[in-house]
Amino acid sequence: MKPPPFSYHDPKTVSEVVGLLSSLDNAKLLAGGQSLMPMLNFRYVQPDHIIDLNRVEGLAYIRGTADGMEVGAMTRQRDLEFSDLVEKRFPLMHEAIAYIGHRQTRNRGTIGGSLCHLDPSAELVSCAMTLDAAVIAVGPNGQREIAFKDFPVGYLTSAIEPTELLTAIRFTAWPVDHGYAFVEFARRHGDFAIVSAAVLLQTDAVGRITRASITLGGMGVAPVRAAELEQALIGEAPSVDFLRQTCESCRKFEALDDVHAPASYRQHLATVMSRRALEKAYTRATGRAPSGSMPAAIA
Ligand SMILES: Cc1cc2nc3c(=O)[nH]c(=O)nc-3n(C[C@H](O)[C@H](O)[C@H](O)COP(=O)(O)OP(=O)(O)OC[C@H]3O[C@@H](n4cnc5c(N)ncnc54)[C@H](O)[C@@H]3O)c2cc1C
Repeated sequence: MKPPPFSYHDPKTVSEVVGLLSSLDNAKLLAGGQSLMPMLNFRYVQPDHIIDLNRVEGLAYIRGTADGMEVGAMTRQRDLEFSDLVEKRFPLMHEAIAYIGHRQTRNRGTIGGSLCHLDPSAELVSCAMTLDAAVIAVGPNGQREIAFKDFPVGYLTSAIEPTELLTAIRFTAWPVDHGYAFVEFARRHGDFAIVSAAVLLQTDAVGRITRASITLGGMGVAPVRAAELEQALIGEAPSVDFLRQTCESCRKFEALDDVHAPASYRQHLATVMSRRALEKAYTRATGRAPSGSMPAAIA
């Protein structure tokens, strides 16, 4: 299939983009094109105007801040993958990026495009949810910050208004000694995950969990925080059996039922992915596996 006909616009500044979005009907922004181009070719979307963000200045950067980092919306996934700052301060994101598509798609795909496309299985969406990110949107009324928990509003639909663009994402880092893990189940490497789990943990000196952030991807219309599980872990130095039992709460989430997997299978995967991610994150946080773990050689 070829894309439907459209007019192409090539702005150089954010204010030009906002001007175009405000004056044109049925316009779409083009970032890396790794989701938009297939959607155009399949004619899932039929915009009259494409506004290309690739030559807009000042949208591609990774900048350290007092409490973490700010990333420009047009930053390529590949630049995040090879960023020292991401690897050292946001190891969850570093681990998750390796699961996104392929080297070729990461070369072009951007963080802003991934967040705005909002696939329920998108690794960067899960990371943003787990890290309580904030996104910066710019539109005709200026700039506003949206907490990431309020960003997904439906299937493939974000809180960005049609006259706005996402310009940056702010992330707050966890303490350097936190535990983290991103695990997912996909049928082939590079495929979208059927279910994923992203975990951040903080523990005290004796290995009790003091803070937990857990996101399940691929279950519903957007990644969800497993709040009940997060709460159940506080104050615990969990054994494998305890994790197995508490992760059962993830079976309660509503799940998609589609050609890739029935809802019941996704719910089962949610219990398994969350437990595996927690075991890994706990081991990284404390330097020892949860009690009752199988020795590494036979695990
Ligand atoms: C073979 C293949 C495998 C893939 N596998 C995975 C995978 O495993 N995991 C995964 O997460 N992704 C995967 N992807 C998708 C990929 O990560 C895309 O890069 C991403 O979904 C979209 O980013 P993009 O920069 O290409 O955005 P585009 O495709 O250009 O845009 C996507 C959508 O976001 C909107 N948009 C883009 N930028 C902005 C902005 N700044 N403000 C407002 N709206 C904006 C566009 O209008 C469009 O609606 C895969 C893609 C391919 C082709």
